[in-house]
Amino acid sequence: MEDNTPMLSNLLTFNRGETRWFDRAECRKHDPRIWFPEPPTSDAMDRARYADEVADAQEICGTCPVKDLCLKDASDRGEVHGVWGGKDFYKSRRQQALESRAREKVPA
Ligand code: SF4
Repeated sequence: MEDNTPMLSNLLTFNRGETRWFDRAECRKHDPRIWFPEPPTSDAMDRARYADEVADAQEICGTCPVKDLCLKDASDRGEVHGVWGGKDFYKSRRQQALESRAREKVPA
């Protein structure tokens, strides 16, 4: 049976020629949706669901041989969605706006 599951590497929007490390990524063996759980709502049950789903992704990241490279890459590009290198990078639009405003206020 053919596996039509898209690879997480296909979701990457950058192409700097440094992504060969991704050939060794543990997530290539899994459904990429694991690393992009539906963002949490303010509901406590839904926050628990989100935490569980993030933990599932983090568990796999914990076995990944390129975890450090993945984490650095996601940090460098200012990722705001998904779990990368075992870290949850999700930021709500409100968080993104607050951080953007804070950066604008910092004198050059
Ligand atoms: S650390 Fe996680 S998200 Fe990053 S390449 Fe490895 S399995 Fe994929």
